[in-house]
Amino acid sequence: MHALQGRVQADVAYSELGAHLRELYARGTPIIALCAAGIVIRCVAPLLSNKGAEPPVLAVAEDGSAVVPLLGGLAGVNVMARDIAAALGVSPAITTSGELRFGTCVLNPPEGYALADPGQGKRFVSDLLAGESTRVEGDAPWLDDAQLPRSASARLAIRVTPHAWNGREDELVIHPRSVVAAVALGEASEIVARVRASLQAHGLAPLSLAALVASSEDMAHAALAEAAASLNVPLRFVEPRSADDRSSASLPHKLLNAALRIPYETLNDDHAQGVALALSPLAIDPHTIGRARGRLTVIGLGPGSADLMVPAARDALDEATDILGYETYVKMAGPLRADQRVHATDNREEMQRARHAFELASEGRSVVMVSSGDPGVFAMAAAVLEALDASDNNAWAAVELSIVPGVSAALATAAQAGAPLGHDFCMLSLSDNLKPWSIIENRLRHAAQADLVMAFYNPISRARPWQLDKALDIVREYRAADTPVVLGRDIGRPGGTLRTVTLAELHSADVDMRTMVIVGSSTTRRFSKGAQWVYTPRWYQ
Ligand code: SAH
Repeated sequence: MHALQGRVQADVAYSELGAHLRELYARGTPIIALCAAGIVIRCVAPLLSNKGAEPPVLAVAEDGSAVVPLLGGLAGVNVMARDIAAALGVSPAITTSGELRFGTCVLNPPEGYALADPGQGKRFVSDLLAGESTRVEGDAPWLDDAQLPRSASARLAIRVTPHAWNGREDELVIHPRSVVAAVALGEASEIVARVRASLQAHGLAPLSLAALVASSEDMAHAALAEAAASLNVPLRFVEPRSADDRSSASLPHKLLNAALRIPYETLNDDHAQGVALALSPLAIDPHTIGRARGRLTVIGLGPGSADLMVPAARDALDEATDILGYETYVKMAGPLRADQRVHATDNREEMQRARHAFELASEGRSVVMVSSGDPGVFAMAAAVLEALDASDNNAWAAVELSIVPGVSAALATAAQAGAPLGHDFCMLSLSDNLKPWSIIENRLRHAAQADLVMAFYNPISRARPWQLDKALDIVREYRAADTPVVLGRDIGRPGGTLRTVTLAELHSADVDMRTMVIVGSSTTRRFSKGAQWVYTPRWYQ
């Protein structure tokens, strides 16, 4: 649920509808807009040139009386319109002629099937609309209930086949994803070339490929992932059955034998090429083959609001099967889907959480570990690396680990205040939970002496009531009483506040654990023009 900031309570708040819709559309997000169709059309109009890649876009009247599919015919917009309309008890405003006539979109086959050529498909459907009938060759169970004009002697044919389309205009070719390619290791481009050549040698269409399979011992090789991405299929891993299989030139064949629990036909016997193909009579669900390489992505949510989260973090959340983190942050990461498993804890045992993440990821799941701000700044990324460093588990090492940066609290607070971090600065955590207080005192003294601007994280808490006062005493030995201090509380979150005081005015009672304290250097200044600004100049005397 996305809604205008300040107007409606929603999961994601936006401040400008047009820009927000265009961003969602460009990222392929299906959109159900509760507003006038015209508004939606105007908003996304500048992006409409690429017809192939469009997500479904629907307008729904705010009183539920009309459901209007606007865009995304090949992405299932009419199916969505029918579902929504059925739930609202109205008729969907479907205008696609083929769909109206035949009761289904012939050009939108279900998961596991791909249309050979959408352009040719259009011509085919207009021939049907002009009164021709068609044969159906091959297995197309989703067409069983369609009101297609069928005739065994028709000129036109819908052909469901893994074999490449030969360009005949009177055939609508739909490929079942029914071929699995197993490969031995190599360079990415060379693996791709091997698979393509092998498909071609058997007259199979690249779109018939359901998955790329490799040995689970090669899981960490980036070339495999690159090859699968460039073939646009999922990559699955299978354990070789024996040491003999592992070293054998026919490893790809052995992998297929070990992987496939369905009847299939083996196509190659030229093992030397490092590829083997299996062809199944039906579309294959790649999830049933071996397992995926597990992923662990450590992300930062930014300070709180969705627009300060980097898109790569949002993408990782969208792709996650499992989400771990401190409960407050997991809530901030929403909206999540019902199929995503949440492992929220209020427990502060970070190492335990990091190990749990590796356990899930090494089972092949896509795990996201959530931190606030930046995950590498006093947060989970270091704990995750510490857990990996200490482990001798090969399965953990094979996990695809990545860390996505975020906007840290000091940066978000600084931006609201102006540019207090405009010159050299340091970030310090005042928490003595994991380091002795003497170290903190020593660092404070050196940072103050070096005239660095200081950003204090974890400045105070109920369990650490006196540390901030002690820290300020040290800073006051080196900094003037009128040094500006920026206090950002809940920045980027509802009810966030920003204040600037002087070092003399600052009391620890003004600060709590949700506050970022930025203490200026000798050159940090403030002024009031239009608004109050604090900055540290780029130069130095
Ligand atoms: N990884 C986080 C920091 C975690 S330490 C980051 O990069 O921002 C937690 C401390 O960060 C808090 O005690 C507080 O000092 C600061 N902090 C986190 N979020 C904040 C926010 N939205 N506003 C102000 N300070 C915040």
